[in-house]
Amino acid sequence: MTRQRIAVLGATGSIGDSTLAILAMAEHNFEVYALSGHQRLDKLFALCERFRPTRVAVPSASVDGFAIRLQAAGLSIDVVGGDEGLNDIATDSEVDTVVAAIVGAAGLPSTLAAARAGKRILLANKEALVMAGQVMMDAVANSGATLLPIDSEHNAIFQCLPLDVQQSRTHIHDSKHGIRNLWLTASGGPFLHKSFEQMQQAGVAEAVKHPNWSMGQKISVDSATMMNKGLELIEACHLFNLPEDKISVVIHPQSIIHSMVAYNDGSVLAQMGMPDMKTPIAHALSYPERIESGVVPLDLYEMSDLSFIKPDLQKFACLRLARQAMQAGMPATITLNAANEIAVEAFLAEQIRLTDIADINEQALSYGTAEFGTRIEASLEDILAMDARVRMHTQHLIAQLTRRA
Ligand code: NDP
Ligand code: MG
Repeated sequence: MTRQRIAVLGATGSIGDSTLAILAMAEHNFEVYALSGHQRLDKLFALCERFRPTRVAVPSASVDGFAIRLQAAGLSIDVVGGDEGLNDIATDSEVDTVVAAIVGAAGLPSTLAAARAGKRILLANKEALVMAGQVMMDAVANSGATLLPIDSEHNAIFQCLPLDVQQSRTHIHDSKHGIRNLWLTASGGPFLHKSFEQMQQAGVAEAVKHPNWSMGQKISVDSATMMNKGLELIEACHLFNLPEDKISVVIHPQSIIHSMVAYNDGSVLAQMGMPDMKTPIAHALSYPERIESGVVPLDLYEMSDLSFIKPDLQKFACLRLARQAMQAGMPATITLNAANEIAVEAFLAEQIRLTDIADINEQALSYGTAEFGTRIEASLEDILAMDARVRMHTQHLIAQLTRRA
């Protein structure tokens, strides 16, 4: 394997942690060329001391201060700022691989820039595909970029697909590949066995306490409402070029099977492992080879029961909304993603209840569908403009709700 130069965008987050843990174990295979952070700049500074990247991206207002701090520590690292800085790193000719691990819509411009620049992209930032699926996939096809999913479910599906789909980027072809459907597994989150009323009363600490995975706050709330599975459904449609009715969601509370591909002959291929993001990240970093990830091996003697449950779409309405949005098209998925980001922020700020998120998303979706129809907008600017309008509208919806409460 030649030494890959890696840019980790979102290095200070949970995916950033897992990625850097693997890179630290395999320094002969990988060079940490660039890192980015946003608010946790002390952590980013410590990462710069540890990994000594060539470049680092911070918010625009922090460029000067961060550069002075690095200099004082004797570290010669090029500091860039804001979206432009992130784009600059994502398209840097020295970079082979971009780990897209910024959370939310903030990750879209740099992920798309990496796709247009023909990079190898390890995609964690599912929101980029939810907002701009077709645009992203077209950019990948046109530039010859390689898109490897590290979201555990999509990585599992990727591993269970025929080799020619994996390697030649051919689309799944019903008759040739004989694929009946994909099974996306979901843990069901912390409220699987709780009532809707208990979910309604839940505080932030309870909602972000995921039973199996340790993740950033936004995705943890998304897992509690199952919006995460909704976003992943949309992500899977784009990544694997399948309609939403070919993708089934099943709750598997143990999170050992990370997803499955069902074939016409009755075979169902599953990818299994401990619930640890280091496995899909290591897979994608070294693909098509395999490296050590540091993950505890699966002990099948300890797995006494693996269970499967059909999701309750009344309790987890966000999952129903995601299917509806995928059927309606890109403006609807942009709307759902933007509304959800604002609603999750409001929940984390203790302004609304956990169960209000689905109601707000549903109202925003009606607004978005009425405002934008089913047009497919092809430019990043159009997408970001729609995203901004939905965010404003969702703020109004939240203000109305909190006034009534
Ligand atoms: P975290 O909240 O832990 O980390 C988010 C990262 O994004 C941090 O580095 C953060 O910087 C940076 N960031 C936040 N806002 C901005 C912004 N406006 N501009 C630039 N950078 C920003 O999230 P996760 O690591 O959990 O998730 C990252 C992505 O990966 C998400 O899209 C999530 O859905 C996806 N994912 C995560 C999984 C997980 O297990 N965690 C599993 C599968 C997918 P800072 O911290 O310095 O503010
Ligand atoms: Mg996932």
